[in-house]
Amino acid sequence: MGNVLIIAEQFKGKLKKATLSAITLGKMVAEKSGGAVDALVMGGGVAAAADEIKVYGVKKAFLADSPALENYVAEPYAQTVAEVMKSGGHEFAFAAATAFAKDLMPRLASKFTAGMASEICGVSFDGAKPVFARPVWAGNAIAHVTIESAQKFGTVRATEFEHAKPGEAGVVTPVTVTADPAKCGVKYVGFAETKSERPELTEARVVISGGRGCKGPEGFKILEELADTLTAAIGASRAAVDSGWVPNDLQVGQTGKIVAPDLYIAAGLSGAIQHLAGMKGSKVIVAINKDSEAPIFSVADYGLVADLFKAVPELTAALKAAKA
Ligand SMILES: Cc1cc2nc3c(=O)[nH]c(=O)nc-3n(C[C@H](O)[C@H](O)[C@H](O)COP(=O)(O)OP(=O)(O)OC[C@H]3O[C@@H](n4cnc5c(N)ncnc54)[C@H](O)[C@@H]3O)c2cc1C
Repeated sequence: MGNVLIIAEQFKGKLKKATLSAITLGKMVAEKSGGAVDALVMGGGVAAAADEIKVYGVKKAFLADSPALENYVAEPYAQTVAEVMKSGGHEFAFAAATAFAKDLMPRLASKFTAGMASEICGVSFDGAKPVFARPVWAGNAIAHVTIESAQKFGTVRATEFEHAKPGEAGVVTPVTVTADPAKCGVKYVGFAETKSERPELTEARVVISGGRGCKGPEGFKILEELADTLTAAIGASRAAVDSGWVPNDLQVGQTGKIVAPDLYIAAGLSGAIQHLAGMKGSKVIVAINKDSEAPIFSVADYGLVADLFKAVPELTAALKAAKA
């Protein structure tokens, strides 16, 4: 035992980068347990993702490629992972803490009546036994937990672990998919994809977020112009989302998305703890707020006390001029 299985996430056959952070944790655990790190790619027509992941130092890149898995439904996916774990003697299974894994992993853990640590943000070891750190109370406290069941499951906060570096290439190993979506009691109906030219919020190098200070959708238009010059994703505070100015998949924070881009620009948002929980791991934080006492300045590397309606267009114009 001691083997680790990384549940890869792919979209249209392309590996999601967050998976690479889960591999990093998997390697740390396997180094102590003496096991191997394998990965599992599931979907329909997703062989390219297995080729992509195999170079990151995994021993086997299991490929469950079947029309039965073409559309994500947790039940057949969980059954497939369980079968791979049983035949591969995997003690641990980790996936990046995305919406996909938050849906899949608890279901999987329940199949094994096993323990699970969510949103793992660090690991230490008691001998070979991993002690997982995970945030509680909106990130205001960190709990250190061990999992005592035979199989152990975890979702990994991608912002807290470096991406795995390419290493020795593993072997793509096809697996037979026995799961039948027609028998799982849940039917796939459709996938409502939001089409956007912008990078995906959780994968973007630059994120520009707005809050209540944007005063309406037109305030976000100003941020979008800046985003266009920086090829950035747009984020938002819950206040802006709840006001209906932007869709809720843009919300950053405790009940939104967790991001850690190279650059996070927060304009017209106060920096409530629930918002900080989703972005404080960003490498460089820039805050633009007209209130010099706003809490966002306590985490900002660069702070500008200014009216965003003046400062942001000036910044956009200066960046455009510098690029010209
Ligand atoms: C259980 C729970 C979960 C939550 N989860 C989240 C979450 O995931 N994400 C999240 O964001 N929030 C979350 N919240 C809400 C959070 O507590 C705050 O209410 C919210 O983040 C505030 O949004 P805001 O900063 O946009 O608004 P405000 O706090 O009202 O701040 C607006 C800021 O804009 C500034 N401003 C105004 N006009 C201008 C201008 N012209 N130029 C520059 N600055 C200006 C003001 O000085 C002020 O600092 C949660 C709350 C709870 C209770």
